[in-house]
Amino acid sequence: MNCELISVGTEILLGDILNTNVQYLSKALANLGIGVTHHSTVGDNKQRLLDTLETAFTRCDIVILTGGLGPTPDDLTKETCAEYFGKDLYPDDRILEEIESYFRLKNIKMPESNKKQALVPEDSIVLKNNNGTAPGFIMEKDGKIIIILPGPPKEMVPMYCESVEPYLRKFTNEIIFSKTIRTFGIGESAMSELVEDLLEGSNPTVAPYAKSGEALLRVTAKAENEAEAEKLMAPVVAEIEKRLGRYVYGIDCNSIEEATARLLTERKQTVAFAESCTGGLCAKRLTDISGASEIFHCGVVSYSNDIKHKVLGVKAETLDKYTAVSEQTAKEMAEGVRLIADATYGVSITGYAGPGSEKEVGTIYIAVTDGKKTAVKELLTGHRGDNCRDYNRHVAASNAFNQLRMMILSE
Ligand code: ATP
Repeated sequence: MNCELISVGTEILLGDILNTNVQYLSKALANLGIGVTHHSTVGDNKQRLLDTLETAFTRCDIVILTGGLGPTPDDLTKETCAEYFGKDLYPDDRILEEIESYFRLKNIKMPESNKKQALVPEDSIVLKNNNGTAPGFIMEKDGKIIIILPGPPKEMVPMYCESVEPYLRKFTNEIIFSKTIRTFGIGESAMSELVEDLLEGSNPTVAPYAKSGEALLRVTAKAENEAEAEKLMAPVVAEIEKRLGRYVYGIDCNSIEEATARLLTERKQTVAFAESCTGGLCAKRLTDISGASEIFHCGVVSYSNDIKHKVLGVKAETLDKYTAVSEQTAKEMAEGVRLIADATYGVSITGYAGPGSEKEVGTIYIAVTDGKKTAVKELLTGHRGDNCRDYNRHVAASNAFNQLRMMILSE
Protein backbone atom coordinates (compact mmCIF):
# COMPACT_ATOMS: atom_id res chain seq x y z
CA MET A 1 0.00 0.00 0.00
CA ASN A 2 1.48 3.34 -1.04
CA CYS A 3 0.30 6.70 0.08
CA GLU A 4 0.61 10.28 -1.13
CA LEU A 5 0.09 13.29 1.12
CA ILE A 6 -1.51 16.40 -0.32
CA SER A 7 -1.34 19.58 1.74
CA VAL A 8 -3.96 22.10 0.67
CA GLY A 9 -3.46 25.78 1.37
CA THR A 10 -2.08 28.85 -0.37
CA GLU A 11 -0.52 29.86 2.98
CA ILE A 12 1.83 26.87 2.73
CA LEU A 13 2.86 27.75 -0.83
CA LEU A 14 3.55 31.33 0.22
CA GLY A 15 5.77 30.15 3.06
CA ASP A 16 3.51 31.69 5.70
CA ILE A 17 3.22 28.43 7.63
CA LEU A 18 5.53 25.51 8.12
CA ASN A 19 4.09 22.25 6.85
CA THR A 20 4.28 20.22 10.05
CA ASN A 21 1.33 18.03 9.02
CA VAL A 22 3.38 16.16 6.41
CA GLN A 23 6.16 15.59 8.91
CA TYR A 24 3.73 14.15 11.44
CA LEU A 25 1.80 12.01 8.95
CA SER A 26 4.92 10.69 7.18
CA LYS A 27 6.30 9.42 10.48
CA ALA A 28 2.98 8.01 11.65
CA LEU A 29 2.39 6.18 8.36
CA ALA A 30 5.94 4.78 8.33
CA ASN A 31 5.29 3.41 11.81
CA LEU A 32 2.25 1.65 10.36
CA GLY A 33 4.29 0.17 7.53
CA ILE A 34 2.57 2.30 4.85
CA GLY A 35 5.04 3.80 2.42
CA VAL A 36 4.67 7.51 1.70
CA THR A 37 6.00 7.96 -1.82
CA HIS A 38 5.15 11.59 -2.55
CA HIS A 39 4.31 14.87 -0.80
CA SER A 40 2.42 17.47 -2.81
CA THR A 41 1.26 20.93 -1.88
CA VAL A 42 -1.46 22.76 -3.75
CA GLY A 43 -3.14 26.14 -3.22
CA ASP A 44 -6.85 26.68 -2.61
CA ASN A 45 -7.73 26.13 -6.26
CA LYS A 46 -10.23 23.56 -7.46
CA GLN A 47 -8.73 22.73 -10.86
CA ARG A 48 -5.19 22.39 -9.52
CA LEU A 49 -6.43 20.15 -6.72
CA LEU A 50 -8.30 17.96 -9.25
CA ASP A 51 -5.11 17.69 -11.32
CA THR A 52 -3.08 16.83 -8.22
CA LEU A 53 -5.53 14.07 -7.24
CA GLU A 54 -5.43 12.70 -10.79
CA THR A 55 -1.63 12.52 -10.74
CA ALA A 56 -1.51 11.11 -7.22
CA PHE A 57 -3.75 8.17 -8.11
CA THR A 58 -1.51 7.20 -11.02
CA ARG A 59 1.15 6.27 -8.45
CA CYS A 60 -0.52 5.32 -5.16
CA ASP A 61 -3.58 3.74 -3.56
CA ILE A 62 -4.28 6.11 -0.70
CA VAL A 63 -4.29 9.91 -0.76
CA ILE A 64 -4.45 11.80 2.50
CA LEU A 65 -5.30 15.50 2.26
CA THR A 66 -5.04 18.07 5.03
CA GLY A 67 -6.50 21.59 5.05
CA GLY A 68 -9.27 23.40 3.23
CA LEU A 69 -12.13 22.04 5.35
CA GLY A 70 -13.11 25.40 6.82
CA PRO A 71 -16.40 27.21 6.30
CA THR A 72 -15.23 29.86 3.82
CA PRO A 73 -15.73 29.66 0.03
CA ASP A 74 -12.00 29.12 -0.59
CA ASP A 75 -12.09 25.94 1.54
CA LEU A 76 -12.89 23.43 -1.17
CA THR A 77 -11.07 20.18 -0.39
CA LYS A 78 -14.17 18.14 0.49
CA GLU A 79 -16.18 19.45 -2.48
CA THR A 80 -13.33 18.79 -4.93
CA CYS A 81 -12.65 15.27 -3.63
CA ALA A 82 -16.37 14.45 -3.83
CA GLU A 83 -16.44 15.72 -7.43
CA TYR A 84 -13.30 13.68 -8.26
CA PHE A 85 -15.03 10.48 -7.07
CA GLY A 86 -18.36 11.56 -8.63
CA LYS A 87 -20.15 11.72 -5.28
CA ASP A 88 -22.88 14.14 -4.17
CA LEU A 89 -22.81 16.07 -0.92
CA TYR A 90 -25.81 15.96 1.38
CA PRO A 91 -26.53 17.77 4.68
CA ASP A 92 -26.15 15.62 7.78
CA ASP A 93 -28.36 16.73 10.70
CA ARG A 94 -26.28 14.90 13.31
CA ILE A 95 -23.08 16.69 12.23
CA LEU A 96 -24.92 20.01 12.12
CA GLU A 97 -26.07 19.43 15.69
CA GLU A 98 -22.47 18.67 16.74
CA ILE A 99 -21.18 21.87 15.15
CA GLU A 100 -24.01 23.89 16.75
CA SER A 101 -23.26 22.39 20.15
CA TYR A 102 -19.52 23.21 19.69
CA PHE A 103 -20.49 26.89 19.29
CA ARG A 104 -23.05 26.70 22.13
CA LEU A 105 -20.38 25.43 24.52
CA LYS A 106 -18.21 28.41 23.60
CA ASN A 107 -21.20 30.72 23.98
CA ILE A 108 -20.82 32.00 20.41
CA LYS A 109 -23.56 32.26 17.78
CA MET A 110 -22.79 29.88 14.93
CA PRO A 111 -22.13 31.76 11.68
CA GLU A 112 -24.37 30.65 8.78
CA SER A 113 -21.28 29.73 6.76
CA ASN A 114 -20.45 26.90 9.18
CA LYS A 115 -23.47 24.97 7.90
CA LYS A 116 -21.26 24.07 4.91
CA GLN A 117 -19.18 21.89 7.26
CA ALA A 118 -22.21 19.64 7.87
CA LEU A 119 -22.28 18.60 4.18
CA VAL A 120 -21.17 14.99 3.80
CA PRO A 121 -20.01 13.20 0.62
CA GLU A 122 -22.32 10.21 -0.04
CA ASP A 123 -21.07 6.78 1.13
CA SER A 124 -18.24 8.35 3.12
CA ILE A 125 -17.05 7.52 6.62
CA VAL A 126 -17.34 10.63 8.77
CA LEU A 127 -14.47 11.30 11.21
CA LYS A 128 -15.53 13.15 14.33
CA ASN A 129 -13.60 16.31 15.19
CA ASN A 130 -13.34 16.62 18.97
CA ASN A 131 -11.22 19.73 18.76
CA GLY A 132 -12.90 21.87 16.13
CA THR A 133 -15.89 22.12 13.84
CA ALA A 134 -14.83 20.45 10.57
CA PRO A 135 -15.29 16.68 10.46
CA GLY A 136 -12.91 14.61 8.37
CA PHE A 137 -13.89 12.00 5.79
CA ILE A 138 -12.80 8.71 4.30
CA MET A 139 -14.04 8.00 0.78
CA GLU A 140 -13.46 4.75 -1.11
CA LYS A 141 -13.99 4.06 -4.80
CA ASP A 142 -12.66 1.29 -7.09
CA GLY A 143 -9.79 0.42 -4.74
CA LYS A 144 -8.79 4.08 -4.30
CA ILE A 145 -9.03 5.75 -0.91
CA ILE A 146 -9.21 9.45 -0.12
CA ILE A 147 -8.81 10.59 3.49
CA ILE A 148 -9.55 14.23 4.25
CA LEU A 149 -8.35 15.82 7.50
CA PRO A 150 -8.53 19.38 8.86
CA GLY A 151 -5.47 21.65 8.52
CA PRO A 152 -4.87 22.80 12.11
CA PRO A 153 -2.46 20.28 13.68
CA LYS A 154 -4.35 20.36 16.99
CA GLU A 155 -7.39 18.99 15.11
CA MET A 156 -5.58 16.84 12.54
CA VAL A 157 -3.34 14.87 14.94
CA PRO A 158 -6.07 13.64 17.32
CA MET A 159 -8.32 12.80 14.36
CA TYR A 160 -5.53 10.77 12.78
CA CYS A 161 -4.84 8.89 16.04
CA GLU A 162 -8.49 8.31 16.97
CA SER A 163 -9.96 7.42 13.58
CA VAL A 164 -7.49 7.14 10.70
CA GLU A 165 -4.86 4.91 12.24
CA PRO A 166 -7.39 2.26 13.35
CA TYR A 167 -8.91 2.36 9.84
CA LEU A 168 -5.53 1.96 8.10
CA ARG A 169 -4.35 -0.89 10.32
CA LYS A 170 -6.46 -3.35 8.33
CA PHE A 171 -4.32 -2.72 5.23
CA THR A 172 -1.00 -3.57 6.80
CA ASN A 173 0.37 -6.55 8.67
CA GLU A 174 3.75 -5.00 9.23
CA ILE A 175 4.96 -2.05 11.24
CA ILE A 176 8.11 -0.03 10.90
CA PHE A 177 9.50 0.84 14.29
CA SER A 178 12.49 3.09 15.05
CA LYS A 179 14.64 4.04 17.99
CA THR A 180 16.99 7.00 18.00
CA ILE A 181 20.29 6.68 19.84
CA ARG A 182 21.60 10.12 20.69
CA THR A 183 25.26 10.86 21.28
CA PHE A 184 27.21 13.91 22.31
CA GLY A 185 30.89 14.79 21.97
CA ILE A 186 31.63 12.67 18.91
CA GLY A 187 31.24 13.69 15.27
CA GLU A 188 29.02 11.84 12.79
CA SER A 189 31.97 10.35 10.85
CA ALA A 190 33.87 9.20 13.93
CA MET A 191 30.68 7.68 15.32
CA SER A 192 29.93 5.92 12.01
CA GLU A 193 33.43 4.41 11.94
CA LEU A 194 32.87 2.82 15.33
CA VAL A 195 29.71 1.06 14.13
CA GLU A 196 30.58 0.66 10.45
CA ASP A 197 29.69 -3.05 10.18
CA LEU A 198 26.30 -2.45 11.84
CA LEU A 199 25.38 0.10 9.16
CA GLU A 200 25.19 -2.74 6.64
CA GLY A 201 22.39 -4.70 8.37
CA SER A 202 19.00 -4.95 6.65
CA ASN A 203 16.59 -5.63 9.51
CA PRO A 204 17.14 -3.65 11.59
CA THR A 205 18.82 -0.95 9.55
CA VAL A 206 21.13 1.51 11.27
CA ALA A 207 21.49 5.01 9.83
CA PRO A 208 23.68 7.85 11.13
CA TYR A 209 22.79 11.50 10.91
CA ALA A 210 23.84 14.80 12.46
CA LYS A 211 21.61 17.41 14.07
CA SER A 212 22.45 20.70 15.84
CA GLY A 213 25.95 19.69 16.86
CA GLU A 214 24.97 16.14 17.80
CA ALA A 215 25.39 12.79 16.07
CA LEU A 216 22.48 10.37 16.06
CA LEU A 217 21.88 6.78 15.00
CA ARG A 218 18.44 5.64 13.94
CA VAL A 219 17.79 1.93 14.29
CA THR A 220 14.72 0.79 12.32
CA ALA A 221 13.10 -2.63 12.26
CA LYS A 222 10.21 -4.07 10.25
CA ALA A 223 8.08 -6.59 12.10
CA GLU A 224 4.55 -7.81 12.73
CA ASN A 225 4.23 -5.80 15.91
CA GLU A 226 6.15 -3.54 18.25
CA ALA A 227 7.27 -6.38 20.54
CA GLU A 228 8.79 -8.29 17.59
CA ALA A 229 10.51 -5.13 16.38
CA GLU A 230 11.94 -4.54 19.87
CA LYS A 231 13.30 -8.10 19.86
CA LEU A 232 15.06 -7.54 16.52
CA MET A 233 16.52 -4.23 17.63
CA ALA A 234 17.63 -5.12 21.16
CA PRO A 235 20.98 -6.83 20.36
CA VAL A 236 21.95 -4.12 17.84
CA VAL A 237 21.07 -1.31 20.24
CA ALA A 238 23.04 -3.02 23.02
CA GLU A 239 26.07 -3.43 20.75
CA ILE A 240 25.93 0.26 19.75
CA GLU A 241 25.72 1.31 23.38
CA LYS A 242 28.71 -0.89 24.21
CA ARG A 243 30.81 0.57 21.41
CA LEU A 244 29.89 4.22 21.91
CA GLY A 245 29.99 4.13 25.72
CA ARG A 246 29.47 7.48 27.41
CA TYR A 247 29.03 9.30 24.14
CA VAL A 248 25.49 7.88 24.26
CA TYR A 249 23.37 10.15 26.37
CA GLY A 250 19.97 8.70 25.64
CA ILE A 251 17.75 6.44 23.58
CA ASP A 252 14.48 7.98 22.50
CA CYS A 253 15.33 10.84 24.84
CA ASN A 254 14.44 14.28 23.51
CA SER A 255 17.54 16.29 24.33
CA ILE A 256 20.84 16.51 26.18
CA GLU A 257 19.19 18.72 28.84
CA GLU A 258 16.53 16.07 29.40
CA ALA A 259 19.21 13.37 29.87
CA THR A 260 21.13 15.61 32.28
CA ALA A 261 17.99 16.58 34.20
CA ARG A 262 17.16 12.89 34.60
CA LEU A 263 20.57 12.22 36.17
CA LEU A 264 20.23 15.17 38.56
CA THR A 265 16.74 14.05 39.57
CA GLU A 266 17.83 10.44 40.17
CA ARG A 267 20.67 11.64 42.39
CA LYS A 268 18.62 14.40 44.07
CA GLN A 269 21.24 16.98 43.02
CA THR A 270 20.90 20.59 41.93
CA VAL A 271 22.51 23.02 39.52
CA ALA A 272 22.92 26.77 39.06
CA PHE A 273 24.05 28.54 35.88
CA ALA A 274 26.16 31.63 35.33
CA GLU A 275 25.68 32.55 31.69
CA SER A 276 27.23 35.26 29.61
CA CYS A 277 27.06 34.69 25.82
CA THR A 278 24.14 32.25 26.06
CA GLY A 279 22.01 34.92 27.79
CA GLY A 280 20.00 32.47 29.91
CA LEU A 281 19.58 29.75 27.30
CA CYS A 282 20.72 26.97 29.67
CA ALA A 283 18.22 28.11 32.29
CA LYS A 284 15.51 28.30 29.63
CA ARG A 285 16.22 24.85 28.23
CA LEU A 286 16.31 23.27 31.66
CA THR A 287 13.12 24.95 32.84
CA ASP A 288 11.35 23.79 29.67
CA ILE A 289 11.38 20.39 31.36
CA SER A 290 8.56 19.77 33.77
CA GLY A 291 9.82 19.08 37.30
CA ALA A 292 12.85 21.37 36.86
CA SER A 293 12.17 23.07 40.19
CA GLU A 294 13.54 19.95 41.93
CA ILE A 295 16.97 20.33 40.33
CA PHE A 296 17.39 23.95 39.26
CA HIS A 297 18.33 26.66 41.77
CA CYS A 298 19.05 29.74 39.69
CA GLY A 299 20.54 31.26 36.60
CA VAL A 300 22.54 34.48 36.59
CA VAL A 301 22.83 36.20 33.22
CA SER A 302 26.08 38.02 33.91
CA TYR A 303 26.59 39.87 30.67
CA SER A 304 28.69 42.73 32.02
CA ASN A 305 32.06 42.44 33.77
CA ASP A 306 30.62 44.43 36.64
CA ILE A 307 28.00 41.76 37.36
CA LYS A 308 30.52 38.96 36.90
CA HIS A 309 32.53 40.67 39.63
CA LYS A 310 29.82 42.00 41.98
CA VAL A 311 27.32 39.15 41.82
CA LEU A 312 29.42 36.11 41.01
CA GLY A 313 32.62 37.19 42.77
CA VAL A 314 34.92 36.92 39.75
CA LYS A 315 38.11 38.72 40.81
CA ALA A 316 38.81 42.10 39.16
CA GLU A 317 42.41 40.95 38.55
CA THR A 318 41.12 37.87 36.69
CA LEU A 319 38.95 40.01 34.41
CA ASP A 320 41.80 42.51 33.86
CA LYS A 321 44.50 39.96 33.25
CA TYR A 322 42.66 37.25 31.32
CA THR A 323 39.50 39.09 30.07
CA ALA A 324 35.86 38.03 30.41
CA VAL A 325 36.22 35.28 27.82
CA SER A 326 38.83 33.06 29.38
CA GLU A 327 39.30 29.79 31.15
CA GLN A 328 40.01 31.62 34.43
CA THR A 329 36.86 33.76 34.29
CA ALA A 330 34.69 30.74 33.40
CA LYS A 331 36.12 28.86 36.38
CA GLU A 332 35.39 31.70 38.83
CA MET A 333 31.90 32.25 37.39
CA ALA A 334 30.96 28.58 37.93
CA GLU A 335 32.42 28.50 41.43
CA GLY A 336 30.74 31.80 42.30
CA VAL A 337 27.25 30.82 41.16
CA ARG A 338 27.45 27.45 42.92
CA LEU A 339 28.21 29.22 46.17
CA ILE A 340 25.50 31.88 45.95
CA ALA A 341 22.90 29.29 44.89
CA ASP A 342 24.05 26.62 47.33
CA ALA A 343 23.71 24.06 44.52
CA THR A 344 25.48 20.74 44.00
CA TYR A 345 26.95 21.99 40.70
CA GLY A 346 27.78 25.37 39.25
CA VAL A 347 27.99 25.72 35.47
CA SER A 348 29.23 28.74 33.54
CA ILE A 349 29.49 29.82 29.92
CA THR A 350 31.42 32.77 28.55
CA GLY A 351 32.39 33.28 24.93
CA TYR A 352 32.01 35.06 21.61
CA ALA A 353 28.75 34.06 19.89
CA GLY A 354 29.28 36.43 16.94
CA PRO A 355 28.64 37.38 14.26
CA GLY A 356 31.67 39.45 13.49
CA SER A 357 34.97 39.14 11.86
CA GLU A 358 36.99 38.79 15.07
CA LYS A 359 39.02 35.69 15.07
CA GLU A 360 37.58 34.85 18.50
CA VAL A 361 33.99 34.30 17.29
CA GLY A 362 32.98 30.77 18.16
CA THR A 363 35.47 30.58 21.05
CA ILE A 364 33.58 29.66 24.22
CA TYR A 365 34.67 28.58 27.69
CA ILE A 366 32.48 26.29 29.74
CA ALA A 367 33.18 25.43 33.37
CA VAL A 368 31.51 22.92 35.66
CA THR A 369 32.27 22.64 39.35
CA ASP A 370 31.08 20.44 42.18
CA GLY A 371 32.85 22.56 44.79
CA LYS A 372 35.87 20.25 45.00
CA LYS A 373 37.01 20.20 41.41
CA THR A 374 36.33 22.46 38.44
CA ALA A 375 36.58 21.30 34.83
CA VAL A 376 36.95 23.96 32.14
CA LYS A 377 36.58 23.27 28.45
CA GLU A 378 37.53 25.49 25.55
CA LEU A 379 34.96 25.01 22.80
CA LEU A 380 35.84 26.16 19.28
CA THR A 381 32.65 25.89 17.24
CA GLY A 382 34.23 27.03 14.00
CA HIS A 383 31.10 29.05 13.12
CA ARG A 384 31.77 32.68 12.18
CA GLY A 385 29.28 33.52 9.44
CA ASP A 386 26.29 35.88 9.59
CA ASN A 387 23.98 33.24 11.03
CA CYS A 388 26.39 31.89 13.59
CA ARG A 389 24.90 33.52 16.69
CA ASP A 390 22.01 31.11 17.25
CA TYR A 391 24.14 28.11 16.36
CA ASN A 392 27.01 29.09 18.68
CA ARG A 393 24.69 29.77 21.59
CA HIS A 394 22.75 26.55 21.08
CA VAL A 395 25.90 24.44 20.79
CA ALA A 396 27.49 26.17 23.81
CA ALA A 397 24.43 25.42 25.96
CA SER A 398 24.35 21.79 24.74
CA ASN A 399 28.04 21.39 25.56
CA ALA A 400 27.44 22.84 29.03
CA PHE A 401 24.75 20.22 29.67
CA ASN A 402 27.02 17.49 28.38
CA GLN A 403 29.94 18.64 30.51
CA LEU A 404 27.68 18.63 33.54
CA ARG A 405 26.44 15.14 32.58
CA MET A 406 30.03 13.89 32.38
CA MET A 407 30.87 15.30 35.80
CA ILE A 408 27.75 13.72 37.34
CA LEU A 409 28.63 10.34 35.77
CA SER A 410 32.22 10.56 36.98
CA GLU A 411 31.10 10.71 40.62
P1 ATP B 1 -10.12 25.92 9.43
O1 ATP B 1 -11.45 25.30 9.73
O2 ATP B 1 -9.40 26.41 10.66
O3 ATP B 1 -10.15 26.91 8.29
P2 ATP B 1 -8.97 24.04 7.52
O4 ATP B 1 -9.11 22.57 7.59
O5 ATP B 1 -9.75 24.76 6.46
O6 ATP B 1 -9.21 24.66 8.95
P3 ATP B 1 -6.78 25.56 6.60
O7 ATP B 1 -7.74 26.73 6.51
O8 ATP B 1 -6.19 25.06 5.37
O9 ATP B 1 -7.47 24.35 7.34
O10 ATP B 1 -5.65 25.91 7.65
C1 ATP B 1 -5.98 26.45 8.92
C2 ATP B 1 -4.73 26.59 9.74
O11 ATP B 1 -4.23 25.28 10.03
C3 ATP B 1 -3.58 27.27 9.03
O12 ATP B 1 -3.65 28.66 9.18
C4 ATP B 1 -2.39 26.71 9.77
O13 ATP B 1 -2.21 27.38 10.99
C5 ATP B 1 -2.83 25.28 10.05
N1 ATP B 1 -2.35 24.38 8.98
C6 ATP B 1 -2.96 24.09 7.82
N2 ATP B 1 -2.26 23.20 7.09
C7 ATP B 1 -1.14 22.95 7.80
C8 ATP B 1 0.00 22.13 7.59
N3 ATP B 1 0.11 21.38 6.49
N4 ATP B 1 0.94 22.10 8.54
C9 ATP B 1 0.81 22.85 9.67
N5 ATP B 1 -0.23 23.65 9.92
C10 ATP B 1 -1.21 23.70 9.02
